[in-house]
Amino acid sequence: AIAFDGKAVLVTGAASGIGRAAALSFAREGARVAVSDVDAAGGEETAATIRQAGGEAVFIRADVSKSLDVQALVAGVVERYGRLDCAFNNAGIEIEHRPLAEADEATFDRIMNVNVKGVWLCMKYEITQMLAQGGGVIVNTASVAGLVGAPTQPIYAASKHAVVGMTRTAAAEYGRAGIRINAVCPGIIRTPMMDRAIEREPRRAKAMEKVHPIGRLGEAQEIANAALWLCSDSASFVTGHQLAVDGGLTAI
Ligand code: NAD
Repeated sequence: AIAFDGKAVLVTGAASGIGRAAALSFAREGARVAVSDVDAAGGEETAATIRQAGGEAVFIRADVSKSLDVQALVAGVVERYGRLDCAFNNAGIEIEHRPLAEADEATFDRIMNVNVKGVWLCMKYEITQMLAQGGGVIVNTASVAGLVGAPTQPIYAASKHAVVGMTRTAAAEYGRAGIRINAVCPGIIRTPMMDRAIEREPRRAKAMEKVHPIGRLGEAQEIANAALWLCSDSASFVTGHQLAVDGGLTAI
């Protein structure tokens, strides 16, 4: 444990999948972790797993689409750890499986609220804290759907393009203030989110592997590794970047 020794790190969407893998990894590297999610049972379990392994973690429940929740979340991290060095804004949802003209308004609002407003609210309060303490690092989870189109997921794709746009803009706005802000863009990763998608359409499983030149799905740990690198001092000159971790999906 060297890279994040004593650093205060917040991970949202940390009850499951990519966020859980990242929270466990930050803790293994010595970070004091604030585990957050709207799912209290799953989040408490992630925090308990970290503590059982000898790490430091606290669970703070928050719905990232709710301003008061996010404000209280960042305040809770600072109350507990005194500062906020790194934030991995990873909470997100993926609920569509139909072309654009068949999408409904409620789905649009829900996806935008969590994926776009959620990342904006998190950045808003995290950056406020980071300005007050003199710097910090943020990584947002976008997607390959934030870089190229995603048939049957038009709203999800729009939401992730928005995450990329906010990431680039905020990086430009706050670079001189000592805050680095990047996005990680996963390909198709084996997580509970993807298991649910495969359950809905079992025949797609094989096709999903084939979209990656590497010939398999990604693992949550492979995205966590990228998020940790972007947060680390090894990436000290990297900001405003969208790092595709996609087995080559967007290379072709
Ligand atoms: P997951 O469903 O396993 O985990 C997502 C977590 O986010 C869950 O624990 C969920 O409770 C939480 N969450 C959902 N809405 C929330 C809210 N309003 N407030 C707080 N927490 C909330 O999914 P995952 O695959 O680990 O996805 C993590 C991120 O990676 C998401 O942003 C997703 O869009 C993105 N992503 C996933 C894939 C993939 O193939 N799995 C690909 C590209 C991008």
